[in-house]
Amino acid sequence: MMQLWNRRTGGRVFSCSAAALLGLLLISCSRDPEFPARVEAWDNDYPAYADEQALLDEAFRIDIAALDVTLTYHPQDAAVDGLARMRFRMRPGQRRPRIHFDPACRGPVITGWRLDGREREVPEAAYRVVDVAGSTQQALEFVEDVDPAGEHELVVTYRLALAPGYPRFTSQVHDLKGSGNEEWFPTLNTPHELARHRLTLRVAGAVPYRCLGSGKVERTGSAAWQEWVLDTEREVASYTLMFVLLPEADTLLREGVIAGIPVRMAAFAGGAAIDLAWAELESWLPQLVAEIGPFPMPRGLSVFLTSGGGGMEYFGGTISSASALSHEVFHMYFACSAVARTYRDSWLDEAITSWYDRTYPDYLVPIAAGYRSNMVSGRSPVAVGFDVRAYYQGTQIIETMARLLGGRGAMTAFLSDVHRRHAFAPFSTMDLAGYFRQYSGIDLSREFREWLYDGQGDAAAVLPVPCGFEYPPDLTPPEEILRRYGLERPRPGRAGGER
Ligand SMILES: [Zn+2]
Repeated sequence: MMQLWNRRTGGRVFSCSAAALLGLLLISCSRDPEFPARVEAWDNDYPAYADEQALLDEAFRIDIAALDVTLTYHPQDAAVDGLARMRFRMRPGQRRPRIHFDPACRGPVITGWRLDGREREVPEAAYRVVDVAGSTQQALEFVEDVDPAGEHELVVTYRLALAPGYPRFTSQVHDLKGSGNEEWFPTLNTPHELARHRLTLRVAGAVPYRCLGSGKVERTGSAAWQEWVLDTEREVASYTLMFVLLPEADTLLREGVIAGIPVRMAAFAGGAAIDLAWAELESWLPQLVAEIGPFPMPRGLSVFLTSGGGGMEYFGGTISSASALSHEVFHMYFACSAVARTYRDSWLDEAITSWYDRTYPDYLVPIAAGYRSNMVSGRSPVAVGFDVRAYYQGTQIIETMARLLGGRGAMTAFLSDVHRRHAFAPFSTMDLAGYFRQYSGIDLSREFREWLYDGQGDAAAVLPVPCGFEYPPDLTPPEEILRRYGLERPRPGRAGGER
């Protein structure tokens, strides 16, 4: 459906000639070959919007229209065979494509590379690994330019090794660190890059598996494999794509409809209590529908409930412990359908969610007078992850907005309006300030700049770490299941996901 940047650049007009001049100065800064390392180039996002767009285009190069990926999981070999077909166009001013695909940055996993029908005999000769300046991400940069006008198709085959141990294959996005699904297939790991995803998930062998995931998930009649086709049916951010493949015998599943929303909830047998979590959704989902709006994913919600750790939200799904479940489900509205423009803007997803679900009640007070931070400006627009102050001072910023509007109900109505108007049209921090002004007449653009752009890091501030905050959802099965596989419980706290 879209090329978001085309839709968005036209409307960005600055009434003040000084701001326009400053914008020009910042654009000229951005031509400096070293600009992505210079934080001051985007200290003030609002006059430099065009500059940020140029930076995103230069860093990410392509606009993905659709991703069709077949992932064949071989549990006995702890390996996955991949076949990824990506249709894309070049962003304005770009000719040399780049993709994110971390395994290929670490080693020669690609076995086939075909661009626009031309097969490469030596796949590694088709790309080079580059650092994305201003980011910790690496990318595969193609060795040749492509036609900047037309649509292109890249077809890549590859084989990935999984960690040995319990046989599971799942998405493992960690948005605080900024790692997405580029671990499993070529994509772009940035929130505003929306693409339709179709995953064919196959499991080799006779042991029956269960599959949960984002969007429409259907078992096929394949005789050769256990096979499911997962289709997001619309363009979504790649890092919001969820899939879970686990041995059926080790898991329990409950399916039903809550508030008109199809819900599928699975957990390890002997693990997390599905019925308790289900009861929570029976009150939470109707509340969200009433207060924020219709559930944003027409195929409903898929939950893999873990017995420990935090949670991670995905498009129409979550892998979450019971304690993080309501937080992750609220993210269906802010993070998985209303999407931040860049990772650094995604502080607002966490702040809004933590404010609404009262994740940290101690922070439900207005932001301190004179508060300044670089929560947004301290990170490059192409950097991954977001500032953890989102959970604390971010929540306080939302509470301040709520009190200006007249309280919790009024703020919830504003959030509902933002969601209704801007879901699936990624927006920035300063866009949110603009939506607030349009809605209420209250101009917080100066405050937003002070709260989020004009201050310093806050390393000296000692903040309590919220429960489970730095931990991913723990997908380790109960010991009884591990024993059946002759495995022992690994040490907790491995990296992977986040709440
Ligand atoms: Zn969250």
